[in-house]
Amino acid sequence: MTATDPSADQALTSVEYRMREAGEWLKLEDGVIENLIAPRRVLEVSIPIRRDDGTRVRFTGWRVQHNITRGPGKGGLRYHPSVNRDETVSLAAAMSLKTALMNLPLGGAKGGIAIDPKSLSPRELERVTRRYVSEIFAFLGPDKDVPAPDVGTNAQVMAWVMDQYSIGVGHAVPGVVTGKPLALGGSLGRDSATGRGVVEAASLVCQARGTSLEGKRIVIQGFGNVGMWAAQLAAGWGARIVGISDVGGVIASEKGLDITALVRATQRGVGSVVDAGVGEVIARGVERSTDVFALPSDIAMPCALGGAVDVREAKTLTAKYVIEGANGPLTPAADDILNDRGVIVVPDIYANAGGVTCSYLEQCQNYAHLQWDEDEVNASVVSTMRSVFKRLHAFSQEHELSYRRAASVLGVKALADAHQLRGLHP
Ligand code: NAD
Repeated sequence: MTATDPSADQALTSVEYRMREAGEWLKLEDGVIENLIAPRRVLEVSIPIRRDDGTRVRFTGWRVQHNITRGPGKGGLRYHPSVNRDETVSLAAAMSLKTALMNLPLGGAKGGIAIDPKSLSPRELERVTRRYVSEIFAFLGPDKDVPAPDVGTNAQVMAWVMDQYSIGVGHAVPGVVTGKPLALGGSLGRDSATGRGVVEAASLVCQARGTSLEGKRIVIQGFGNVGMWAAQLAAGWGARIVGISDVGGVIASEKGLDITALVRATQRGVGSVVDAGVGEVIARGVERSTDVFALPSDIAMPCALGGAVDVREAKTLTAKYVIEGANGPLTPAADDILNDRGVIVVPDIYANAGGVTCSYLEQCQNYAHLQWDEDEVNASVVSTMRSVFKRLHAFSQEHELSYRRAASVLGVKALADAHQLRGLHP
């Protein structure tokens, strides 16, 4: 299968299943897990805009605040044609688990618009973004819900969100979004943070088994924000990136791809890694992008969309470790197969949490009206990844749980404890 998102039902069922399983393991009181699974708020909004040629068009968007018990909602804003209600709910639920596992004082949220951003001009994209913000305005704010970039959105989109929100309240509110440009209060280090966390997770899981990243063969699906930084940083640790794929297909090199040349080509604007003139093109087309996982490797990093690794990929994947850079890249069936095959999977709610950790640091800087230097931010992201890994690894060893189950249990426990302490209104 291709790396399009799995059916929304499947994604939703999979997060629900993991939360339910964790609730049973924790022996939570009846009704508590149902309360934790249900999203607190789901907003569906209509977004009509005028196109550049004067015609009207209408899109649908969502913002889901899944859990806001431990702090304001936090989660990305996705622009992709496959965005829908259930997928947004499942991604928001995963954010609730992620912020709880990482012990950040935040809740879980997610938003999206069913749209192909590449089919719109920059002015049209700006109009879509501003109208979306107007529709969900009452629910946004630094203490309510703070969006960030995700697939199909970037720092410029966050700048428009910030501007539209600020117009509404009458003064500049940089803290309403994270992942914004530096000139508007963005954080140094935010671009690389998710990829940095993915590579740190890979390094820690190797260390826990008495080995290191140096010399390891890595395959990566996705060469966007997460995949590109993961590739650069892993290469910096002495790993060999032997295969990379994206919407255009797969490139490979047994010796290791020249990541610097690939990044340069991407910055020059080549549409896909297969057009960069780096390595050997071994497959073309989005439907072949998962072929990358069958290349001989030690570590696989799916860093594109959800559902990339299904049964076929799980059977042919050669790596011993899978580090989930994307959200939900393994289908539940693939997860079972990999588990049976003894492949160690580091789950998304930990592996890609460097991004939300840095977003939290950006919020701290915004509250304090300060800007930290890049080394300080990077060091803080890495130290958070390390301390949470220590807890996750110890818990999984002590209770003989996979990292995925251990992470879900720790996340659900933090949420359940917060609910318990706050009590039930009325
Ligand atoms: P991006 O839009 O910058 O890059 C996505 C990459 O995936 C591109 O290289 C694209 O070609 C590739 N891709 C898209 N559809 C594909 C398909 N069907 N088959 C193969 N490749 C495909 O996105 P990103 O910010 O790098 O995010 C990637 C994943 O990581 C998403 O699941 C996102 O939710 C998750 N994530 C991102 C962040 C972040 O800080 N950016 C944080 C946490 C999780």
